[in-house]
Amino acid sequence: SRPENHVIILFGATGDLARRKLLPGLFHLAAAGLMPDRYRIVGTARSPITDAQFRDLAHEAITTFGTTEPTGETWQAFRRTLSFVGAGPTGPSLVAAIDHAKRAIGGSPGRLFHLAVPPAAFESTVSLLGAAGLAPGSRVIIEKPFGTDLRSARALNKTVNASFDESQVFRIDHFLGKESVDNILAFRFANGLFEPAWNRRHISYVQIDVPETLSIEGRADFYDHTGAYRDMIVTHLFQVLGFVAMEPPTTLGADHLRARMARVFDALRPVDVAHVVRGQYAGYRDEPGVASDSQTETMAAVRVEIDNRRWAGVPFFLRSGKRLGASRQTVTLGFHQPPLHMFPIDGTGRWNEVVIDFADPGSITVDFLAKVPGAEMRLAAASMTFRYADSFRAGNGLEGYERLILDAMLGDQSLFTHAGAVERLWEISEPLLENPPPVQPYAPASWGPQPSVDELIEPYRWRLRG
Ligand code: NAP
Repeated sequence: SRPENHVIILFGATGDLARRKLLPGLFHLAAAGLMPDRYRIVGTARSPITDAQFRDLAHEAITTFGTTEPTGETWQAFRRTLSFVGAGPTGPSLVAAIDHAKRAIGGSPGRLFHLAVPPAAFESTVSLLGAAGLAPGSRVIIEKPFGTDLRSARALNKTVNASFDESQVFRIDHFLGKESVDNILAFRFANGLFEPAWNRRHISYVQIDVPETLSIEGRADFYDHTGAYRDMIVTHLFQVLGFVAMEPPTTLGADHLRARMARVFDALRPVDVAHVVRGQYAGYRDEPGVASDSQTETMAAVRVEIDNRRWAGVPFFLRSGKRLGASRQTVTLGFHQPPLHMFPIDGTGRWNEVVIDFADPGSITVDFLAKVPGAEMRLAAASMTFRYADSFRAGNGLEGYERLILDAMLGDQSLFTHAGAVERLWEISEPLLENPPPVQPYAPASWGPQPSVDELIEPYRWRLRG
């Protein structure tokens, strides 16, 4: 369904995120016919530019980062919806610009604020929206990080909830907008083959592994204060864990889904620092802007456990970091081994794994043992793989951000994180944040500091390795 008519107010409209994801995403939604019938996009930032400059910036951003060429009538129509207002976030000019957009649309369009501003500007922007009387009847999309520890997350939520009711707040985690992460719910709950096996009786370990080959790409200012745990694990990887581990929700509505996620996070044991490896790639301290004695981890691997009836005793291994051996996004579930003594087997290893690759376009592989053709009964590793293109003609292929911005316009909070869930994840992270083990160096293009990263997972092995 298409959203009601909307004024979208994009704070930080000249920033990196707006250029790389938000403007191209909005245009793709328009090209796919998924934007409202009538809408306006008002960009804002402190340094003023003209409407014409903003339209050119959008054109350049969509050309560089988008999937749909900004040409023809689709672009001309989209271009006309764009305007820019400079100055403070809620000076009279912003209010006037929103009014102007509203009159151009007619009726009472919805109002969606998207706060793509640096974390230091979050709270002041939200408070000013409240003070300007713009909060009632609006929705607000908030970008991560949702704080940097429990205290700051609580403070941020308090500020946000002082102006906006939780039902108006959309904390975006683009991993949850990914087609292949959503598909985890379908794979688990819609298939009698997999649903009964999705528990401690059949699964012996889970790995959520998101290595990146990229370095910090000159973003020392941001990264040296953040590190891999805060940047990736406490945000994206735990959200994916929520999808992998949740109990079946009654419906996929926001209330049910978010309650199930919350139950998983409640059951997570606080992180035990003895089960954490923090690594730093060789050469990180020489990156421009990084302190020469920096203790920031560029890779983190963590073992966590969920104390509930479904998962008690099953270790969940989470790993992410920069300058690792590959760029991948995977969930691996390892199954218990049945007695195999009657079979001669070629090779060694784990035989039964389900691997959900959720880097676009995504795939699912099931590894199993099969008989090697021939007169003898010998077994060897075999696999079956699902790829979207093999089963489906091109769908409407929305990227994570696109799907989530659309959901926000539709008022569907299912894939957005609740304040309580954010706080709980910081709460279980406290032992680590308060008492981080020292960083250990690792070679670029490796899989983290050895032998620690392999020892963490023993007696199992990382699915992804050199
Ligand atoms: P950025 O490139 O530094 O851009 C920030 C934007 O906000 C600029 O348009 C800037 O323009 C504006 N701005 C800065 N201070 C402001 C203030 N006090 N009031 C109003 N506008 C202000 O940052 P970014 O990378 O786009 O990131 C924006 C937010 O998205 C951050 O919270 C970040 O954590 C989050 N995020 C980014 C990414 C990403 O891939 N980049 C991914 C996930 C989340 P002026 O300086 O002219 O005001």
